[in-house]
Amino acid sequence: MGIIISVVNQKGGVGKTTTAVNLTAALHKRGKKVLLCDFDPQANATSGLGVDKDKTAASSYDVVINGTPARDAVIHTAHGDVIASSSDLCGAGVELIAIPNREFVLRDALAEVKDDYDVIFIDCPPSLELLTLNALCAADTILVPVQCEYYALEGLADLMTTMRAVKRGLKPDLYLFGVVLTMFDGRTNFSAQVAEEVRRHFPGKVFATAIPRNVRLAEAPSHGLPVFAYDKFSRGARAYEELADEIIEKEGI
Ligand code: ATP
Ligand code: MG
Repeated sequence: MGIIISVVNQKGGVGKTTTAVNLTAALHKRGKKVLLCDFDPQANATSGLGVDKDKTAASSYDVVINGTPARDAVIHTAHGDVIASSSDLCGAGVELIAIPNREFVLRDALAEVKDDYDVIFIDCPPSLELLTLNALCAADTILVPVQCEYYALEGLADLMTTMRAVKRGLKPDLYLFGVVLTMFDGRTNFSAQVAEEVRRHFPGKVFATAIPRNVRLAEAPSHGLPVFAYDKFSRGARAYEELADEIIEKEGI
């Protein structure tokens, strides 16, 4: 049975999508069955895997709002499967309010494909509203990218409070899979200090592999490619390979 991992942090631009796309590709390369469900109306994960969001037959919006079976929305790419997002998903947060069991719509939708995969990643938008709440309730566990910058820990308290509230009221067995440090700059003491602080705050939960700041990681999505297909020898590619290995080892995927 597959594990569903939501990649979440309500802070924008911390590397959620970059992490979701490249881990999907890295696990796919290792022969794992992987699905990336793009649950952010920005649809960056969709385009990051080379899928044109305007040309898909069905999207994550259709899956949660129109009752399209998840399996019918799956698109096979060279780097793993994806359920694409689309800008309609912007409105889904409001449309979901009227639906009974509105926090569980994504969970119920993904239930039919869960056994088809070893891992399903859900890429979340930068908010803690109903879309993210659905992603938390659909997930077994959450992966939190944290950018190595001054305000790194700010906001994480809100995320952990939300996670505890979800555990209490909606999904008692939700747990923190791990924290991944992103945009780490090894040349500065500052990045090392932030990393140390995050490690102190989340003992035993921070992956040993920190993702360096690397321009190849930022360039690859503009070509619709994960970093391995764009520049497999880049430091960014090597880091996501190592992170994927660490995750496989940790979770026995
Ligand atoms: P949002 O909250 O808007 O969904 P996000 O958390 O998904 O953002 P990304 O889109 O992955 O963040 O990354 C934000 C920007 O930083 C992107 O332009 C991305 O290409 C770039 N980026 C991400 N990780 C790195 C890195 N390790 N090195 C350099 N650039 C990076
Ligand atoms: Mg994103």
